[in-house]
Amino acid sequence: MKLLEERIRRDGRVQGSDVLKVDSFLNHQMDVALFQELGREFKRLFDGCGVTKILTIEASGIGIACVTAQFFACPVIFAKKSRTKNIAGDVYTSKVESFTHGKVYDIIVSKEFLLPSDRVLLIDDFLANGSALQGLIQLVREAGATLVGAGVCVEKAFQPGGGLIRSMGVRVEALARVQSMSQESGVIFCEG
Ligand code: 5GP
Repeated sequence: MKLLEERIRRDGRVQGSDVLKVDSFLNHQMDVALFQELGREFKRLFDGCGVTKILTIEASGIGIACVTAQFFACPVIFAKKSRTKNIAGDVYTSKVESFTHGKVYDIIVSKEFLLPSDRVLLIDDFLANGSALQGLIQLVREAGATLVGAGVCVEKAFQPGGGLIRSMGVRVEALARVQSMSQESGVIFCEG
């Protein structure tokens, strides 16, 4: 999606070898007009899939998931990061390894909100190693719901997550794919 690619090239900042900072428009300050266009594009891509719920993970996926949900006229569920060791039986749980901190944490969704009859679209801001999406896929499977696919704003195509999730037979749509980036030159090469 040209609009997002141009914005990443203009306002994205490369941190170290593998972190793309998009704090000025995507996951700290949020450009809601841009989100509107991203949501519209997710709707175009997954139109006719019968989506009944959008599932994301706190915190940075919530904004884009909510705007996207307006196009699908469905609710958003965000998986909560849990600090409780003994989790009660009324939730689905799975584990996610944080890309930025490397720590493994539990994520939970109440059984009340994710139903076997649901057709679920996963939405997140970034796809890197694929741990966040894997954790969300696990929750959908536990619930016995149908996974329609995953929509991510930015896929870092030089990292393994996209290949991993697609090899599981899950449809993944990325609005921008970063092929390479350099902190030294500041150049971010993206396409697709
Ligand atoms: P994964 O689980 O695919 O390794 O990483 C995805 C999650 O890590 C996303 O939910 C996102 O919040 C965070 N993330 C991964 N890579 C980046 C990045 O380059 N920049 C930012 N801002 N967040 C990232």
